Amino acid sequence: MPYVCELGTGQKIYLDNQGSQTFVTIASGSPGQQQQASNGFQTGTWTSPPSMYRTENGVVLKIETAQGEHFVQLQGSSMSVMGQTPSLGSAQQMSVQQVSSTPASSMKPMEPMKPMEPMKPMEGMKPMEPMKPMQMGSMQMSMNPMEMRMGNMELKMGSSSSSESESGGRKFCSNCGATVKPDDRFCGSCGHQLH
Ligand SMILES: [Zn+2]
Repeated sequence: MPYVCELGTGQKIYLDNQGSQTFVTIASGSPGQQQQASNGFQTGTWTSPPSMYRTENGVVLKIETAQGEHFVQLQGSSMSVMGQTPSLGSAQQMSVQQVSSTPASSMKPMEPMKPMEPMKPMEGMKPMEPMKPMQMGSMQMSMNPMEMRMGNMELKMGSSSSSESESGGRKFCSNCGATVKPDDRFCGSCGHQLH
């Protein structure tokens, strides 16, 4: 769980312990003009919540881990690990509160574009446009008549070959039996009147 400490000057210090690293984020400025500086320090896992002290030389962060105590000095937006234990006798301890999350990278100006892209994972399963031929790799598909081609395989559905339907409408001369067209008035073979 990260912690936050408000410095009272519009600055907030976020503290997070991830693995053996301590991340310190200084966030300052007003909403919309947020500035932040982040730093990670190798400290070890916290054994107790971090504490902050206001000293004459800035703010001092105290981290307690199984490996010992670590002190980080914060001045403005810069921070540095202190080589030795500072004297905190006259320092004023500041209140540090637990927060659910640190100001994540979502605060960066480029991030607001994110919500525009929820379509990305859908790309492969775009709804079919029924009238256009479609191609997926070696597979080709078109509608009306339904036709599908995959590599050397071809599949057709719907309208069957046209010669068959034409023969269905064929007529024969009632006189000589020759084949005549449905709209012929006379037999082309014997001249018999058909209609
Ligand atoms: Zn005829």
